Amino acid sequence: MISIADNLNNVRQRIKKAQTSSPVRLLAVSKTRTADEVDTLHQLGVDEFGENYLQEALEKIAALNAQHEQSIIWHFIGPIQSNKTRQIAEQFDWVQSVDREKIVTRLNEQRPDNLPPLNVCIQININDEQSKSGIAPEQLTELARQVSASPRLQLRGLMTIPAATQSDAELNASLNTMHNLFRNLQTQYPSVDTLSMGMSSDIEAAIQSGSTMVRVGTALFGPRTS
Ligand SMILES: *Cc1c(COP(=O)(O)O)cnc(C)c1O
Repeated sequence: MISIADNLNNVRQRIKKAQTSSPVRLLAVSKTRTADEVDTLHQLGVDEFGENYLQEALEKIAALNAQHEQSIIWHFIGPIQSNKTRQIAEQFDWVQSVDREKIVTRLNEQRPDNLPPLNVCIQININDEQSKSGIAPEQLTELARQVSASPRLQLRGLMTIPAATQSDAELNASLNTMHNLFRNLQTQYPSVDTLSMGMSSDIEAAIQSGSTMVRVGTALFGPRTS
């Protein structure tokens, strides 16, 4: 049987081989996985976990906090409903799926004063898909300005989920467009250091196009059954 430890070694090798000069962070995507599975990967040295579904995430965060696993950095990466922003602002360290003004306003108001600013990535819908969250590139200037003007938020960069149906050439074009948007944003905001792109199937292509953080689920935990 292939273990989570073997999977992690394999993913780390893939990242290392593809990596150019700057380091690439690994975000383990733990949606549908148990708190025990998160704990196993954390014991193996992974510190950052991404969750898509708020209720499921809150249960896992509570379970791991009870086991004194406060060293985990939690990222919210799923679609955001505006009535869920308070719990996101209170329980997470990062949110990568910010895509509208109202969400920015609420997260900024609801981030508790005793916590550091909430790290924010703006999600770009790079292939303009109906089914996906995220803004069009033309909307980035205005939303980035709003995030950077919010004292309880820290603008860290961009996140994207490219269309799954593209050819290699089309995928590379999408990834390169993202890299250009990212570099442009960096010249305006010194706090921007994160380009979150690349999943199990396209870790290498994403890193070669300048990703600084890959979000990996299946290649670490195996296929999702639910
Ligand atoms: C599920 C998910 C991932 C991980 O996808 P895998 O193909 O399982 O690696 C990454 N990012 C987001 C936003 C996701 O929802």
